[in-house]
Amino acid sequence: MSIPGERCIRFCRPYRPARSTPIRTSDKTDPPQAAESAKPAVRLAASCRLPTRWGVFDLHGFEELASGREHVALTYGSVADGAPVLGRLHSECLTGDGLYSLRCDCGAQLESALAAIAAEGRGVLVYLRQEGRGIGLLNKIRAYSLQDAGADTVDANHQLGLPVDSRDYRVAAVMLEMLGIRSLRLMTNNPRKISALERSGIVVAERVPLQIVPNAYNAGYLRTKALRLGHLLGGQGLQGDEMWPGAGSG
Ligand SMILES: [Zn+2]
Repeated sequence: MSIPGERCIRFCRPYRPARSTPIRTSDKTDPPQAAESAKPAVRLAASCRLPTRWGVFDLHGFEELASGREHVALTYGSVADGAPVLGRLHSECLTGDGLYSLRCDCGAQLESALAAIAAEGRGVLVYLRQEGRGIGLLNKIRAYSLQDAGADTVDANHQLGLPVDSRDYRVAAVMLEMLGIRSLRLMTNNPRKISALERSGIVVAERVPLQIVPNAYNAGYLRTKALRLGHLLGGQGLQGDEMWPGAGSG
């Protein structure tokens, strides 16, 4: 149904993903992933234009049928022609994305990814509603409180009895398929994200590092991500101690 003056389109037919290609990579640190047949059924609810400071994107709203969880994808230009698409999977971080927190690098990564996509003239950003690496907003605030007392991000989650990273990227693969995208040049520093996507049938043709300059508040957090969670931040010189001003509680 079209709304006069808008480019919104409503899609009501649920999408049942086809079986995807075989597993190409593995990562023993990943949470257990169910069989390919367990990829979530997703509905594309509506699409519209979304002007941003970097350009006019198309915004697509999705709903997971089983859980009712809502996610969005932003696309820029033509993305369904089969060639690898510059892309980013971004997990929700209300504090970083919406409240300008400097405790993490999420807001800077989000801005950098949108700018890169617009500059390229073609790309996709999948925004997944899995706050706090999957533990939720209130638990993230509890973990931040423990980090204020000296714990790092990994130990804080352990003290709360919560997983360190329970993010699930299968829904992202389904959303990408629905947008006609099968191959990405993925902007990420997280190798788990690459292996998770490839298990779900999305080809990662290239990893594009996201270059973020650490600040005094997130340097410790970034160091923990590099040293304890396997993030590839060496290209930014982030393994060097001199790059960690005020490291500690981020
Ligand atoms: Zn964040």
